Amino acid sequence: MSIIYDRKTFKVHRDAQEIPVKAKVDVLVCGGGPAGIGAALGAAKGEASVMIIEKNNCLGGLATSGLVTTFAGGSIFSGSEEGNPKVKRRQVIKGVVWEFIERLINEGGAISPEEFHEKGYNDAATFDIEVYKRAADDIMEEWGINLLYYTLITGAIMEGDTIKGVIVENKAGCQAILADIVIDATGDGDVAYMAGAPYKIGRNEDGKTQPLTTMFRIGGMPEVGKEQIEKFSKFPKGKVQPYFLFWEAPEFTYGHVCVFGTPRKGEYRCEMTRSVDKNGLDPDDLTRAEIECRRQVPRIVEYFRREYPGAENVYLIDTAS
Ligand SMILES: Cc1cc2nc3c(=O)[nH]c(=O)nc-3n(C[C@H](O)[C@H](O)[C@H](O)COP(=O)(O)OP(=O)(O)OC[C@H]3O[C@@H](n4cnc5c(N)ncnc54)[C@H](O)[C@@H]3O)c2cc1C
Repeated sequence: MSIIYDRKTFKVHRDAQEIPVKAKVDVLVCGGGPAGIGAALGAAKGEASVMIIEKNNCLGGLATSGLVTTFAGGSIFSGSEEGNPKVKRRQVIKGVVWEFIERLINEGGAISPEEFHEKGYNDAATFDIEVYKRAADDIMEEWGINLLYYTLITGAIMEGDTIKGVIVENKAGCQAILADIVIDATGDGDVAYMAGAPYKIGRNEDGKTQPLTTMFRIGGMPEVGKEQIEKFSKFPKGKVQPYFLFWEAPEFTYGHVCVFGTPRKGEYRCEMTRSVDKNGLDPDDLTRAEIECRRQVPRIVEYFRREYPGAENVYLIDTAS
């Protein structure tokens, strides 16, 4: 293959090329986030040969690389609003997702929805990112699912209006992967877009989307006690619980303190940065938003050190990648 730069037209031309076929599977799952994990396990349980292609180095998508350390929406709790101590949990999502959560709980890598509900936020279960990544790898191996990390999907292979596979780019170059069924689990509908499906983004009136947020984790936080509860539960919307701290904080673009406990002692995942008026599908906007959000982090860490009793030694662990 040759790629030629034409100085006069300021254009780059690529020759038509033959692309090697790396694999052919029954079901190809594009993207290894929570949706991709569920889709791959469902297909493997139906005895299909399955491959997941993922551009990052692990499964979990936003849940792991994005540091979104809580599974929300799996259960509905009743009774808590009346202060009833006999709160009942009703499971509304089961299947492979719940099997995965149970496995993390059994491996000590997640806090159950019951405990999280009692000491934290709503209907979620919180997990340890490293246990999630390893457990996800293990489950894929147990079900014979092929994983391909560090691989970006760049094109859809079409036969008429039917998708037959995808083009990928990685350190081995450009390759084709063929499949009877292609599942788009990229979170952004990348494969559907590449296949020519119509799409719409943002609000009807101006196309704007929600603000963008870079999550980050902090460590060295004290256990929630009387001092913290007394100080912050008086703040507007104040909620001070072992696994959830929330109150209005207009000094931040995000507008709130909003942090979730993880299974690790003293560790919280912070959802407190915000970049507005950006399009999450525009690489220039994404770059600017990432830089902008990361710059907001030190001031937030400093806020905890200064304002939160017992948090003088709080430190930044990491920002989402
Ligand atoms: C700020 C924020 C806070 C949130 N808070 C919560 C919460 O507290 N609890 C909760 O349950 N949910 C929360 N969510 C929602 C949750 O993160 C998503 O619902 C969930 O991650 C969707 O899973 P997914 O697998 O569809 O997509 P993703 O998690 O986005 O996974 C997509 C995967 O596809 C890969 N991929 C994408 N494009 C390509 C490509 N071209 N080639 C190869 N791989 C590709 C990505 O690397 C990624 O691994 C939050 C989301 C955001 C943005």
